[in-house]
Amino acid sequence: EKEELKMLIDKEAVSIDGVKANMWGNIGSPNDVAGLHRNGAEGIGLYRTEFLFMNNDRFPTEDEQFEAYKTVVESLEGKPVTIRTMDIGGDKALSYMDLPKEENPFLGWRALRVCLDRKDILKTQFRALLRASAFGYVKIMLPMIISLVEVRQAKVILEECKTELREEGIKFDEDIQFGIMVETPAVAMRAKHFAREVDFFSIGTNDLTQYTLAVDRGNENIAHLYDPFNPAVLQAIKMAIDGAHEEGITISMCGEFAGDEKATPVLLGMGLDAFSMSAISIPRVKKNIMKLNKKECESLVEKLLDMGTAEEIKMVLEEFISNK
Ligand code: PEP
Ligand code: MG
Repeated sequence: EKEELKMLIDKEAVSIDGVKANMWGNIGSPNDVAGLHRNGAEGIGLYRTEFLFMNNDRFPTEDEQFEAYKTVVESLEGKPVTIRTMDIGGDKALSYMDLPKEENPFLGWRALRVCLDRKDILKTQFRALLRASAFGYVKIMLPMIISLVEVRQAKVILEECKTELREEGIKFDEDIQFGIMVETPAVAMRAKHFAREVDFFSIGTNDLTQYTLAVDRGNENIAHLYDPFNPAVLQAIKMAIDGAHEEGITISMCGEFAGDEKATPVLLGMGLDAFSMSAISIPRVKKNIMKLNKKECESLVEKLLDMGTAEEIKMVLEEFISNK
């Protein structure tokens, strides 16, 4: 099978009935890029920048961030590189930042919420991202959104940074793409409205599952309840995809679910535009997409969404896949 997968590296993920899905990779640092190339990634759907902040004893400077982003962007040679702003807090702490102890850290001061309160952190990162955009195809992505107020506030700050750079005579991509993660029910339920104000979506199923089901993603006692095949999570994913497409923007998925082989017929059937996952999973998911018929997956999704439990859904999916 290894040889078979290797043969697919330069092939596109096109279904039997001719629908193409983009295959992207998730990375945490420039070191991960080599793996992407080896596995035929067509871009980066999630660059988790918090590692730059966590593997440090102080905030990384604008230049340090710029160098890290530029390295990745250059090595992708014009392919899309989706870079997410700092997603700290929740389960991710910074030794040099005094994050308050909270009763419910996953519902607390995290990610963009921190960045909008500490505008200096966001500005530094936006400036570094804009500067890196002069060297390839950068897409800026915001995590943990719940409201359009956040989107608009972040946009104002991004515009401020653009104005500064213009005044300083520093080049950047004037049409830089600006998107958000769909990882809360608040965004999934109102997807269309968010889609009108951003360029793209990416579904973060790790958090979307946690917040839809009210199940802490790191709590072992309730790990059996943490299931993205729960019909409510599937419904939330469908709402996000439909909302994006109604407004004509593209939608990818960068949560673990994108690399789950049982999920592939579901996501293809729902019309997901791009799958982003750790590099090693790319060839196998691609191979599965090439065996599927999108039209058939659409009917399957309709049937699945009418079922009662994750267990029933997974049973039907296993049966469906084993017949391929
Ligand atoms: C997610 O929530 O699905 C996601 C991709 O982000 P992270 O796992 O970094 O929270
Ligand atoms: Mg997340």
